[in-house]
Formats: sequence, C-alpha cells, structure tokens
Amino acid sequence: MKYFTLADLKKESNFKKIKRVDKIISLLKKKYKSPKTALQYINPLQLLISVMLSAQCTDIRVNLVTPNLFKRYKKVSDFSNADHFELERIIFSTGFYRNKAKNIIACCKKIESDFNSVVPSTMVELISLPGVGRKTANCVLSEYFNKVEGIVVDTHVLRISKRLGFSKYEDAVKTEIDLMELLNKKYWLYYGSVLISHGRELCKARTPLCAECNLKYLCPSNLI
Ligand code: SF4
Repeated sequence: MKYFTLADLKKESNFKKIKRVDKIISLLKKKYKSPKTALQYINPLQLLISVMLSAQCTDIRVNLVTPNLFKRYKKVSDFSNADHFELERIIFSTGFYRNKAKNIIACCKKIESDFNSVVPSTMVELISLPGVGRKTANCVLSEYFNKVEGIVVDTHVLRISKRLGFSKYEDAVKTEIDLMELLNKKYWLYYGSVLISHGRELCKARTPLCAECNLKYLCPSNLI
C-alpha cells in the first residue's frame, strides 16, 4: 500500500481530505471504543471541578485528590467561600494549584451570582465562567448533559490532528474549528475521546510509534 506523504497533503482537496478523515475514523473504530471519562464524580459541580483540576494533570491524580476535596466542599457556596490557602493545600498535587484554586473560587462565585448556584448546561454559559474554556465545557456538556457542541481538543488531540494534516494550528480553539468543519458531527465526541487514547498509546509526543500505528498509510507525518 502507498503511503500518504506531506507532498500529497499539500495538493489534497477538501473533498479528498474528508474521505481520508472517514477512513481514519473507521480505522480508529477498529482499535478503540469510545471511553467515558475516568474522573469520578456524582454531580455536575464535581465533574466541572474535576475537569478544571485535570488540566496538566492525570485523571488518576485528580481522583486521588477529589474524595477529600468533595468531602470538605459540597455545594457551590462552599467553593465560592473557600479559603484560598486551604483549597490550594488540598489540590496542591494536581499542579498549577494557585491558578486552579483562584479559578475554582471565581467560577463558583459566578455560578452563584449568575446561575442561581446551578452549573449551567450550555456552551455559551459554561465558557462565561472564569477558568472554563471550550475543552472543559465540551467535557462537561458531553459527559453529564449528553450534549455535543464541539470537539474536546486537549494536547493529544491538538498534536495528532496536526500530524494527520487536519489542522495547522497550535491553538486548541482554531484546531477545534478546523475539525468541526472536517468531521461529521456524529464523530465529534468519538474523535476527541479516542485520539486521547491514541496519543497515550501510540502517537506519543516525543516518539510516535508509527510502525505499530494502523493509521500509518493515511498519515503524512508517519516516520516510516
Ligand atoms: S503514523 Fe505516526 S505520526 Fe501518524 S498518527 Fe500514527 S503514530 Fe501518529
């Protein structure tokens, strides 16, 4: 089988790119099931806080921190009135703890003042909250509210989408826009979640394992 190259990518029409995307999705489907989040939560507030904590941190680490956290802070008002230093101490091991604590408190203050202490359920409302970007909003919307309004673009999705030639950007929002134009909406949720698995397993940041990758014939960045 002939490999798809960077030269092929340069002259690829949008129509052909969409065809290639479809083939890639069907190959990914052979390998990965759509995983649910590993984060442990029992309500949308806990999910929102967990997703905020998961930035630059593993789900496993977040799950080690949240039982204690959610025992101490149960309601939106518990977080909005939290003592910064105490909150920072509890979430310390998730990294970037100062910023995360500041955002969590500000976010819950806004949920209290603007949304009657109820976690909102639309993209526009969620991204109006401090510290909540489209990635966090997409996670909360799809995971808890069963709504797909975009594609989760984390570091793996960003890197692999660029390697596959689906977007040239380093910016998550611009990449998400490119992906939403390319992918059929029915694949938005699947694509975001399985590329995270693919990035962890094979298409690693430093050394992608292209020889073992079932996308290698369709990927212009394959190292074979
Ligand atoms: S061929 Fe290599 S660079 Fe392309 S998706 Fe597979 S592992 Fe990543």
